[in-house]
Amino acid sequence: EAKRDSKGGVCLFSPSMEAARFERRRMEQELREGIALDQVKPFYQPIVRFSDGGLCGFEILARWQHPRLGLLTPDAFIRLADSTGQITAMTHSILRQACIDARHIPAHLRLALNISPTQFEEPGLAETLIAIILAEGVSPARFEIEITEDAVMDDIVAAERVLATFRNSGMTVALDDFGTGYSSLSNLRRLRFDKIKIDQSFVKSLTESVESEKLVDAIISLALSFGMKVTAEGIEDAAAAEMLLRKGCTQGQGYFFGKPASFGEVASLLSLPREVAA
Ligand code: C2E
Ligand code: MG
Ligand code: MG
Ligand code: MG
Repeated sequence: EAKRDSKGGVCLFSPSMEAARFERRRMEQELREGIALDQVKPFYQPIVRFSDGGLCGFEILARWQHPRLGLLTPDAFIRLADSTGQITAMTHSILRQACIDARHIPAHLRLALNISPTQFEEPGLAETLIAIILAEGVSPARFEIEITEDAVMDDIVAAERVLATFRNSGMTVALDDFGTGYSSLSNLRRLRFDKIKIDQSFVKSLTESVESEKLVDAIISLALSFGMKVTAEGIEDAAAAEMLLRKGCTQGQGYFFGKPASFGEVASLLSLPREVAA
């Protein structure tokens, strides 16, 4: 926004804008260095099966161990990574670290990796991620890809090709934050997602709002009728968990079951050998 200076002229920069620009540049540079040094780490949030309460895997969530600012959550750096072309390098670094962790995590537990819409258009996205996993000596079948509706609905033909490449490698594909974007039901069917994740905004209001409950009912029956699994995220209390269990929801994720944690914490939770947990 242009501001008027004291002489009535227009200046394009104010000192505070200058400072904000400087800070953004600094973060951009620090992110570049941080990614190279593996400061952006995979954290792991448990996903549980409703049928028997067992653990079925983890969602990989990025956390930046920033040397100056401490542990940062994605709202502080994912948009920056996306807009400065660093999201690819960040994802590769996280995936490589997750593969190293995966060697110590029981093989039946699936690890879900988030992909930004901006990244989804990259040529060779699926091939590159599969190559990274194989180079680390891990089976791609241990991984799930999470993408949002916006990423896939623009160019359905291209999306179909990318998802097919993932699936042919043994990976599964989940549609994240379902209900907040735009997707047509026929495209949903055509893309053959293995799983739908119900956005946490609906889950949070589930026990108080009849509207949310009806939406959640509709999403669960849609998923199940298409033969897809359905995960509810953002479950914070027993009341919501019980309700989703009764509704036939397949899997649950949320602070009620566990917060995102470092590999060290997860390793001690799983009682892995001490040298791994350290
Ligand atoms: P998402 O993929 O929908 O991940 C779920 C988010 O909900 C995570 O936030 C998780 O910590 C949070 N969450 C889970 N259960 C609860 C709960 O019971 N209560 C509350 N209040 N929150 C809960 P987080 O880790 O801050 O990540 C935010 C978003 O950033 C993710 O949303 C995802 O879109 C993006 N993201 C995270 N890691 C990556 C990554 O490695 N790559 C990319 N491209 N995006 C990422
Ligand atoms: Mg996700
Ligand atoms: Mg989500
Ligand atoms: Mg989200």
